[in-house]
Amino acid sequence: MFEAAAARTRDRSPATFDQWFAGVQFDGLADGVLTLRAQNEFVMDWVRNNFVPDLKEQLRQVSGVAVRVTWILDPDIAHPVASARLATPVRTRPMSSRPLLVRSADDVPMSVRGTTLEDINPRFTFANFIVGPSNQLAHAAALASATGGRRYNPLFLCGGTGLGKTHLVHAIAQRVHAERPSARIRYTSAERFTNDFITGLQHQKMDEFRSRYREQCDVLLVDDIQFLAGRVQTQEEFFHTFNALHNADKQIVVTSDKYPQALERMEERLVSRFASGLVADIQLPELETRIAIVRNKAVLEGIALDDEVALHLAQAIRSNVRELEGTLIRLAAKSSLTGRAVDMEFVRSELTTALAHRTQMLSVDDIQRAVCQHFHLRTSDLTSKDRHKTVAFARHVAMYLCKQRLKCSFPELGRAFGGRDHTTVMSAVRKIETQRIDDVSVRGHIEAIERKLAVE
Ligand code: ADP
Ligand code: MG
Repeated sequence: MFEAAAARTRDRSPATFDQWFAGVQFDGLADGVLTLRAQNEFVMDWVRNNFVPDLKEQLRQVSGVAVRVTWILDPDIAHPVASARLATPVRTRPMSSRPLLVRSADDVPMSVRGTTLEDINPRFTFANFIVGPSNQLAHAAALASATGGRRYNPLFLCGGTGLGKTHLVHAIAQRVHAERPSARIRYTSAERFTNDFITGLQHQKMDEFRSRYREQCDVLLVDDIQFLAGRVQTQEEFFHTFNALHNADKQIVVTSDKYPQALERMEERLVSRFASGLVADIQLPELETRIAIVRNKAVLEGIALDDEVALHLAQAIRSNVRELEGTLIRLAAKSSLTGRAVDMEFVRSELTTALAHRTQMLSVDDIQRAVCQHFHLRTSDLTSKDRHKTVAFARHVAMYLCKQRLKCSFPELGRAFGGRDHTTVMSAVRKIETQRIDDVSVRGHIEAIERKLAVE
């Protein structure tokens, strides 16, 4: 039945269908659930957005019932749909043979069937992580925490967005699992921890919640702890979870976009716990690291890329690995649709659009970070009460740049800068506006920071 429906879907655009379904395997159709296996997330997203609606419609017509689709990610697709040409029946593999990850389907709630590790992206391994000076410490500490080397407990990984924190945490989970299959690994985001906690409270299931995070847990990995800002009750609960695990000598790894001391509205006792192990930060990757990341990603995704193009991409996108990868993937998708090679000419023309998009994506955090890098300050200095000349000047410049580049109101900026009054922000912005015109050194500072913020 699947074959008949798929053949109809294929008829609409056979070449594109074959290209994408080369990375998809049909795993079975039972009880109104169609299971598909995708080589990677990229293929899954594409097929899900471009083919699945029609495929579902065809299946409905063929079978008379509405079908739901569920996905499994698996880098080793043994029997891709396209190679079977849909003429001969597609051989199916038992579902549990080697599923690495079951992702939420387009219309089926996240289900985990036969998986070994919940919510872990199989691509985020140590092998796929490029090490450079910017992330060396974080990488070494992560590896040690996973392999029973010198352990730091807790390990606190911090750094800007898209720099590899989640990747490292998933790599830890996979390595621990490979070395100690019986270890109970609990990976969660602070947001999910919060939601689970609230659900536990609502349904009088706190025992279950506590047992999950305390007793039935040998390694706790908590992503994006900054989410707990201002959530007093969840922080309290997390504090006890932390202590229970720490006392039992269970490894705890926490990630954050800020240093512990810079976390906002976080209880002091938690901050001091976070800082009590090893705090390893991840900085923006250097050019060489970015080139290596682009090349590695291209190999993983099967994208042909020459050195000049890799260099150009790495030079153009400096602030964030996620964006670097995203751009490469977009280019590859576009090239495969238009039949153009990912060469310099193509990349140059495409990047103009991507970069325009990026400028709009700047956030207060990005600007604060760039300003602090320039003046060698910590981001917490900008939100602090410190009135020293350099700090106050940097703060004013940051406020000015935020006002220029972002659509923020004065009161919003006041809040983003440690709860200052909007009139303070207003006068700071005016002051810098004037100084930028009158004072060459001020202009020099601002332009240097703008270059940092600009992508090229
Ligand atoms: P964060 O959690 O810090 O926001 P992620 O871990 O989600 O960032 O990383 C964003 C993307 O960049 C992911 O696809 C990840 O695989 C990739 N990435 C980041 N750093 C590296 C690296 N050093 N080597 C390879 N890929 C990386
Ligand atoms: Mg992350």
